[in-house]
Amino acid sequence: MQSLSEKEYKNEFVQAFDGDDSGNVKPRQTPGVLYSKALPTPVRKVELLAWSEELAQELGIEKPTDQKDIDILGGNHVAPSMYPYAACYAGHQFGNWAGQLGDGRAITLGEWVAPDGKSWELQLKGAGLTPYSRRADGRAVLRSSVREYLMSEAMHYLGVPTTRALSLVSTGDQVLRDMFYNGNPAFEPGAIVMRVAPSFLRFGSFEMPAARRENENLQKLVDWTIDRYYPHLQGEGRILAWFKEIMEKTAALMVEWMRVGFVHGVMNTDNMSILGLTIDYGPFSFLDDYDPDFTPNTTDLPGRRYAFGKQASIAYWNLGCLASAIAPLLPGTEELVAVLETYSDIFHEKYYAMMAQKLGLDQVKEGDQELITRFTDTLYTLNLDMTILFQLLMDLPEEVGTEAEVTAHFQDSFYREIEAGERATLFTLMQDYATRLKANTGTREEAKDRMRKANPRIILRNYLLHQAIEELERGENKLFLKLQEAMKDPYSRHHDELFAKRPDWASQKAGCSMLSCSS
Ligand code: AMP
Ligand code: MG
Repeated sequence: MQSLSEKEYKNEFVQAFDGDDSGNVKPRQTPGVLYSKALPTPVRKVELLAWSEELAQELGIEKPTDQKDIDILGGNHVAPSMYPYAACYAGHQFGNWAGQLGDGRAITLGEWVAPDGKSWELQLKGAGLTPYSRRADGRAVLRSSVREYLMSEAMHYLGVPTTRALSLVSTGDQVLRDMFYNGNPAFEPGAIVMRVAPSFLRFGSFEMPAARRENENLQKLVDWTIDRYYPHLQGEGRILAWFKEIMEKTAALMVEWMRVGFVHGVMNTDNMSILGLTIDYGPFSFLDDYDPDFTPNTTDLPGRRYAFGKQASIAYWNLGCLASAIAPLLPGTEELVAVLETYSDIFHEKYYAMMAQKLGLDQVKEGDQELITRFTDTLYTLNLDMTILFQLLMDLPEEVGTEAEVTAHFQDSFYREIEAGERATLFTLMQDYATRLKANTGTREEAKDRMRKANPRIILRNYLLHQAIEELERGENKLFLKLQEAMKDPYSRHHDELFAKRPDWASQKAGCSMLSCSS
């Protein structure tokens, strides 16, 4: 174990590429470089609110106890071997080319090499101005930081690929935010998350040099990324093979989001990880009642581009942007397009395999795709709670009983009165499902085991996060700590006090159903 302040950090990204070393954080375009030096701007007082002990253990990082180490987590101290920088990237936002974006409030401090030899970027989110802050302040509020801290760790424990969060600190400063974009800005407590990932490179990192026609930078970035993160890909054709892998990882990520009911909310190309990780937690949400049209992001209305049910096709659209960016490095676009065209098949195969696991099926047999679609249709038309429905499904008796018994069995997943016709739909679905389960090779217990692994019981619903944040703003951390514990064990029944559907009061309340990007 090593302390944050005494560690010898690596800065391999910085060493590999040209950057703007001036340290000037005046907002500007930075052509020709992939990053700019940006020192964190000190805050009033850094206080540790949360620490991810398991992650720290894995990375070999000592829990900070003296102020110097704590100060690193809030940007008030920079270790001698760190080279803090903001990455320069571009992106397509809401379907439009947005040009240069870059880390406007994220600063990478350095690379931490763990005892197992793996390298992790340590990055502060909310550490002050960078050349990419544009007209914003480079800060983050407690509300959004708590959400990112808890949710990225929750996703990890759910088994979904994600960036991680090591710490959450308060800054002692107030940050002005117009939370609802309605001209009523208010001060909120500031906070900083230290997030970690092998790399924070995004699709937009490649779109930037491509748009600037900086072919040399683009080629170098692609080569470096493959050598470092996809080292098994060597020789001729490796760029194409690399793109195919990114596509597979991205399709797999979309399927994982669908498995747990996660809606990202801002799937712009600058928020798409080149490693297939969930990245940039903003106005995300889990589904409560199943609704493919649900978007948690107020900025995404009325188009609902980033709604739950559109995520897989938006990922495809984003992969198209990445393909365009790297196309200049290939002799032609034909092969790239051919790879891209396999996306739909890859996604659907993964999707049905995942849904089969959720339903406890041994394989995807003929007729199973229809059964799966009937399930999602029923979840949607009856407004059922997705998480609870799948939990109750595990306990469905082998002989499902009468219509009334089936209705009663699923009662806890209802958000409203279920009408006669709907009861009949649910009943026949469950009868057909029970019949299909009997056709499994293997035991019922094996089926249940598959279901237990595929269906989370505890998810961080927005209203829970909202309540935990309200408490923290009052100086209490009871619910926060409870959520932090529960999210580590989301498939068990050990935290059943959190196994409940969204309460009525939360369905229209801001912060519990809809959120804005303004965080
Ligand atoms: P996001 O929607 O959070 O992915 O952010 C889109 C772009 O806006 C990125 O370039 C961010 O770095 C930048 N940005 C978001 N919030 C802030 C902020 N408070 N200060 C500076 N830049 C920001
Ligand atoms: Mg972003």
